[in-house]
Amino acid sequence: MMANRLLELYIHIPFCVKKCLYCDFLSASASEAEREDYMEALFLEIRERAVECKEYQVCSIFIGGGTPSILPGEQIERMLALIRKHYALTEDAEISIEVNPGTVDEKKLCIYRAAGVNRLSIGLQSTHDRELMALGRIHTWQQFLDTYQWAREAGFDNVNVDLMSALPGQTRESYAESLGRVLNLRPEHISAYSLIVEEGTPFYRAYEKGQLALPDEDTEREMYRDTERLLLEQGYHRYEISNYALPGKECRHNVGYWTRREYLGFGLGAASLMDNTRFHNTAERQAYVESPLQQRQEIQPLKRQEQMEETMYLGLRLTQGVSREEFRQRFGVSPEDIYGPVIEKNRRDGLLEYHRKEEGNTEGCQDGDEMAYLALTPRGLDLSNYVMAQFLLE
Ligand code: SF4
Repeated sequence: MMANRLLELYIHIPFCVKKCLYCDFLSASASEAEREDYMEALFLEIRERAVECKEYQVCSIFIGGGTPSILPGEQIERMLALIRKHYALTEDAEISIEVNPGTVDEKKLCIYRAAGVNRLSIGLQSTHDRELMALGRIHTWQQFLDTYQWAREAGFDNVNVDLMSALPGQTRESYAESLGRVLNLRPEHISAYSLIVEEGTPFYRAYEKGQLALPDEDTEREMYRDTERLLLEQGYHRYEISNYALPGKECRHNVGYWTRREYLGFGLGAASLMDNTRFHNTAERQAYVESPLQQRQEIQPLKRQEQMEETMYLGLRLTQGVSREEFRQRFGVSPEDIYGPVIEKNRRDGLLEYHRKEEGNTEGCQDGDEMAYLALTPRGLDLSNYVMAQFLLE
């Protein structure tokens, strides 16, 4: 059968040098032997799942974590060779890997590039060593700068930098300085998130005891506004609530999540959406390593109503918004047929608007259609959670 459906692959590497104090991701430190065992299980899963993907072409691969760059470069090389052997890739597949400063050198980055990785996502968070230390990060600003320079020298022309605001001890000025320093480097993509104090983390415990000196709400809001203003001034396009890119450099893999493209996750805890069914692998490392093919959990076929809800609240994260034509093609009805009163109310409140196709967007709809997309207004973006919650039916 012809491989004609598009699929994204996500590969989870659950290892870090040490745990950052705010982090609740599925990651931990591990010995080299534990990492080796995990990788063997992962390779087995990648190889054996290929049979489920014969009808698909893989259009993006995202190697995330944890800290995938903790692994020897050769293991990433081997993984990508294995994927190429067993899966059909589109010619221009986006292949991203997350990298943390302090775990790579120029040689490793050259191995990635030669293996076909064409996008790097570097975890920086702040350019101030004092703030990095407060977060429990393992690296300094200078180590980031070295990593960034090596990435350019290795030939990477698509680099994301992660930044965080609302950090302990951070001021509006120090955050603006972080943004300015990163903007001077001109990465193709910047992800800018506010710190969320997650339950179960050391930060949460400190917060509970009143020992975490976070910026107040007004300062946090000013940081949020500074992000948008400074990045737009410098020619970045805000294409999602927390993501900015130079034209054409949006992360295709993540856009796929927000437009509900099918994806298959490999590795510990990795989530998938295939055939309108969501499921994920176990979060127990030992169980995964022992039998990586028997660990799918919470297999949840999505009802038509749930698919519509997801289409709306995920699609509205994108500034492009939800394509009304795609919605109609998928469900045989328009968004207004299902959500008429909600859409009207939010339009009246200035939180939603219709607009035409954004420049550079190649999706199939008429250029001139003034109502091709339904999207959040700038004010709606500020209140996105409030608006999106209204698209849950029942
Ligand atoms: S490097 Fe990333 S995944 Fe690892 S502990 Fe820190 S924040 Fe979490």
